[in-house]
Amino acid sequence: MSTRDRHAERPRYMRCLRKTEPEPGFHLEQATKPVPLRGEVLIRVTSAAICGTDVHIYQWDEWSANRIKPPTIIGHEFVGVVEQLGQGVTQPLEVGQRVSAEGHICCGTCYYCRTGKAHLCQSVEIIGVDRDGCFADWISMPAGNVWPIHADIPDRWASVMDPLGNAMHTVASADVAGASVLCVGAGPIGLFSVPIAKARGASRVIVSEPNAYRRGLAEAVGADLVLDPTTGDLEAAVMEVTRGMGVDVILEMSGHPGAFRQALRLARLAGTMVLLGIPSREFAIDWAEEVIFKALTLVGVNGRRMFETWYQTEEFLLTHGPSIEPVLTHTMPMEDFDTAFRYLTSGRAGKIILDFGG
Ligand SMILES: [Zn+2]
Ligand SMILES: [Zn+2]
Repeated sequence: MSTRDRHAERPRYMRCLRKTEPEPGFHLEQATKPVPLRGEVLIRVTSAAICGTDVHIYQWDEWSANRIKPPTIIGHEFVGVVEQLGQGVTQPLEVGQRVSAEGHICCGTCYYCRTGKAHLCQSVEIIGVDRDGCFADWISMPAGNVWPIHADIPDRWASVMDPLGNAMHTVASADVAGASVLCVGAGPIGLFSVPIAKARGASRVIVSEPNAYRRGLAEAVGADLVLDPTTGDLEAAVMEVTRGMGVDVILEMSGHPGAFRQALRLARLAGTMVLLGIPSREFAIDWAEEVIFKALTLVGVNGRRMFETWYQTEEFLLTHGPSIEPVLTHTMPMEDFDTAFRYLTSGRAGKIILDFGG
């Protein structure tokens, strides 16, 4: 076989899941295989996980319609193998190395980037949102965003390091050592936060979740008490186990106004409430009674700290990795994406990993 023949054999096209029109759904399409630009790394995607953000984009809600400019390849949580290094890549990255990547591509020059808060970069571009994402056979990423995967971390866990990082950042935003913790909402990030809070020394982790399937997952990841906020007296149950004081730390993962207000009532005086769940609209709370007179600390959480959160997440996976297995409920071929989104929208799945083969 001549060099030219071998060159001709290289694929120039790839499969991708793309939002082609401003309407619900994704299309499985052919796209041109990306070429790594200077400073970029071409990665062959092996597995990618579906995020709640992808569900919003699939459903084409108000947020998606305002933010996404079709056509866009979706997806931002993945693991793959380095296939080619672009010019000028000086990091110790090698062809054949397993990698994931931080999907927030920051400017590196704004106030936040220059003061160690790149997760708040005001010129951020997010893969699968503002530019083409990882639901494709290949993706090209800036080398600085690429995260080499430790040999003892399997692909399954590596594919969810992004949302696991959101959980890590949320839990790490409060002092949970020796604390009672209430996690409000047991979606994948809420579920991940249970073993993370325990690994960081929480004395007791309570989960509030209306969906029975997800309550089962909360028990499987080791929550000490799992409660249904729609039946029974959740507030009395929490007060009983906290000896009438309320919990030290609340992890608000739901963004649901009713759940948010209930959580505020369950915080002890001078407690901390960390907010990751995104409310879809404004809502009122009793600021005087539930925040000011309670001396409550409210902490908003956005993204992952670059790259402190990634180091913490890697260390967690190396020491407690099997604890996240119950959350990874399904693996499907990428072609079955419609089935995956049906499972997710019906609330009958934790994290779904799409297999890209290879
Ligand atoms: Zn995500
Ligand atoms: Zn910036």
